[in-house]
Amino acid sequence: MPPLLIGSEIYRRSTYGPKHPLAIPRVSTALDLIRALGWMDPARYLDSPMASVEELIRFHTPEYVAALRRAEASQTVDPADRDRHRIGADGNPVYREIFRRPATSAGGVMLAARLTVARGGIVHVPGGGTHHGRADRASGFCYVNDAVLGLLSWLDAGLTNILYVDIDAHHGDGVQDAFHDEARVFTVSVHEGRRWPFTGAAADVAGGQARNFPLAEGASDSDMLAVLEHGILPIVDALRPQAIMLQCGADAILEDPLSRLGMSNQAHWAVVRALMRAAPRFVLLGGGGYNPWSVARCWAGAWGILNGLEPPDRLPEPAEAVLRALTFHRAAGRNPPEHWFTTLADAPRQGPLQEETLALLQNPLPVA
Ligand SMILES: [Zn+2]
Repeated sequence: MPPLLIGSEIYRRSTYGPKHPLAIPRVSTALDLIRALGWMDPARYLDSPMASVEELIRFHTPEYVAALRRAEASQTVDPADRDRHRIGADGNPVYREIFRRPATSAGGVMLAARLTVARGGIVHVPGGGTHHGRADRASGFCYVNDAVLGLLSWLDAGLTNILYVDIDAHHGDGVQDAFHDEARVFTVSVHEGRRWPFTGAAADVAGGQARNFPLAEGASDSDMLAVLEHGILPIVDALRPQAIMLQCGADAILEDPLSRLGMSNQAHWAVVRALMRAAPRFVLLGGGGYNPWSVARCWAGAWGILNGLEPPDRLPEPAEAVLRALTFHRAAGRNPPEHWFTTLADAPRQGPLQEETLALLQNPLPVA
């Protein structure tokens, strides 16, 4: 069965505000790039439905969902909702689509889970991956936790052995905590150790249902590949999961302004390649990523990997035009290097394994 792509036009021109790291276009650019590469078969593209309130309260509290809807309708937040639900606080602004956009991401991930239940298969949902969202509050730019809702859809459909892997630069805390006492879901996170939310230490196994691989600043492709081979794949072999969900945040890439990891997009694609056929069901999400060129190139290339398509050495003119049209009001946007416009694949960024990485992989904890 060929892979499916679930997207939405709701992300186009949606912004968290001009000064916010999520001022930039991400999903719309990735989809434009995929189309410009000739990699989009309309028969395999699905428009994401918006999750209903009933679907959202499978994880979120009714009070919190109501507060998000109020904030969207009024475009403001009252002090009680701000204090209780962190809406309009902690980098989670009130913005135009504050309810509809996360509800659409959730609808897409839940649809992906449902589509794969009966017949298996591969689905890419680049708008998904909001892994910090909490049952009753916004956290880390995430209002709704679409990953949790997708995993719950798999559980509700009867799956009993699910693996969630998260390679965003930030710890996948919201997902790990949601399944802390759930023996049917195992979560793995690879992230920068000394970075917000400052959870996900190597010793944190969430009651036995999680493994964490906190990397040091500057970790390269070599560190990610070592964690993949000696950390993640042994877990896959031990669990033999019925389904894998991969959160593929693009903020571990060297040029990302919000983290200090040093990877290329090749590290992300290697994880996609290794996991996409490691279970009968595979759902690939987006996630963080705050450099518009890095994000679009990483996620478009990931769709190529899912389809067995290798990125061309030099992008065709329409794809280059998509990337040249981007603007970015941060230091990296002032003088973007030429290869951000003309290529999809970064040059690999390899290095000696860091001490911290070696220590993580030395005595792997057995997985029951
Ligand atoms: Zn992140």
